[in-house]
Amino acid sequence: MNCVSCNEPMITLELDGVEVDHCLSCAGVWLDSGELELLTRQPDASRVIDKALEDGRRGSGTRRCPICRKKMDCVMIGSNHEIEIDRCTRNHGIWFDRGELEQIAALLDDRKQSAVADLLRRTFNETAEKG
Ligand SMILES: [Zn+2]
Ligand SMILES: [Zn+2]
Repeated sequence: MNCVSCNEPMITLELDGVEVDHCLSCAGVWLDSGELELLTRQPDASRVIDKALEDGRRGSGTRRCPICRKKMDCVMIGSNHEIEIDRCTRNHGIWFDRGELEQIAALLDDRKQSAVADLLRRTFNETAEKG
């Protein structure tokens, strides 16, 4: 699969038993449908995105899904709508730019000290050092 943002081939990374696609060039992450729920262990993680869409918090992104090539929904998430993510309208998956997955994971974690965010930070720092 090629990167949604820069079109470079992505590598597969295993995060806590979940295989995700990661771009070494721009540090973005693609999660297939359902993987956000698995990673965050929040069965209704996608609700945050659905809610933002219902509230009309759409961004101006024009990215295309790496699977179906259709234009994705650009959604503004977070208390200040500061996180901009892209989701396939056919629900193939979600694209996160560098650091956004950590932000979402932290947002979804009630305890505000997300194990997923820590894991991501470690994994991506290691990847960056190797590269
Ligand atoms: Zn990229
Ligand atoms: Zn798609």
